[in-house]
Amino acid sequence: MSEIYDLLILGAGPAGISAAIYAARAGLNTLWLDKQFVPGGQIVNTYEVDNYPGMPGMSGIDLGEAMGTHAEKMGISPVGENVLSVEDTGTEKLVYTNKHEYRCRTLLLACGATHRKLNIPGEEELSGMGVSYCATCDGAFFKDRTTVVVGGGNTAAEDAIFLARVCRKVYVVHRRNELRADKILQDRLAACENIEMVWDSIPLEIRGTDQVTGLLVRNVKTGEESLLETDGVFIAVGILPNTDKFRNFVQLDENGYIVAGEEGVTSTPGVFAAGDIRTKSLRQVVTAVSDGANAVNSVQKYLLKQN
Ligand code: NAP
Repeated sequence: MSEIYDLLILGAGPAGISAAIYAARAGLNTLWLDKQFVPGGQIVNTYEVDNYPGMPGMSGIDLGEAMGTHAEKMGISPVGENVLSVEDTGTEKLVYTNKHEYRCRTLLLACGATHRKLNIPGEEELSGMGVSYCATCDGAFFKDRTTVVVGGGNTAAEDAIFLARVCRKVYVVHRRNELRADKILQDRLAACENIEMVWDSIPLEIRGTDQVTGLLVRNVKTGEESLLETDGVFIAVGILPNTDKFRNFVQLDENGYIVAGEEGVTSTPGVFAAGDIRTKSLRQVVTAVSDGANAVNSVQKYLLKQN
């Protein structure tokens, strides 16, 4: 019979890292899996995380690395395996990866979220050829060029500010005439002279053959269509939870997030959720980290009751 873990954590973003640290401190026999080898999850793609207390202006990749190193010092590191499916047998949960089958008493889902797509012509075809979902990863390729950022949230604002430092010109296409981004980011955006807002507009088609040449947009108020000539299109229209594999395993809300409160308790006994993957009003590094700690506290309470 294979080993049975007290806790199996899926995901090595801030929620998973925090959970791993708390699990190590609690002396739980823990296995930690993540499909990527670089810890940090989505923050790895963030140029600067300037709202995590004590770390002003730290780059996402550095913060992820610092968190990962912290976990390593506590004696726990993620194993790089891709989870294919999960199963609940009652007292045990089974996790099937591309390499192994694992058994655990409790399972913590901290797999975060991924980029939402626009699903317009040209998006898939020109992905990696001017279409990007990560300005900090790909922005440098557009030095002195023109780019478009689509979206009006914090990510879009941060991406546009980042791109404005390297690009000659940056358009921000937003479907309303008001940004969702935090005021501080809106102010920074407004201060960038090479950023032009394209309000009330939705993207229709990304043009180009082997490289992006333009973005066709429609003004939703006037119906007028116009072509923005650009070398790159950065799509920042929100995130979708990575819950496909857990659809019949735990209850999801209408947007696909796992229904779980601050304590991380899901509809399935012994299964917990932390970070961007769960229903919550504020998805930030600081709330993900807090989720990880709370979920491990709930795991401990659950395990005590089982003994
Ligand atoms: P978001 O806050 O959900 O914003 C998505 C933006 O894309 C919205 O402006 C939305 O328009 C627009 N949008 C959505 N679907 C669209 C479509 N099909 N076509 C055109 N536009 C579309 O997503 P996010 O900016 O990625 O942020 C995700 C979470 O991470 C948020 O909780 C955010 O606060 C957090 N975050 C925080 C920071 C930070 O604090 N430094 C940085 C990055 C992200 P509407 O406004 O009209 O809905």
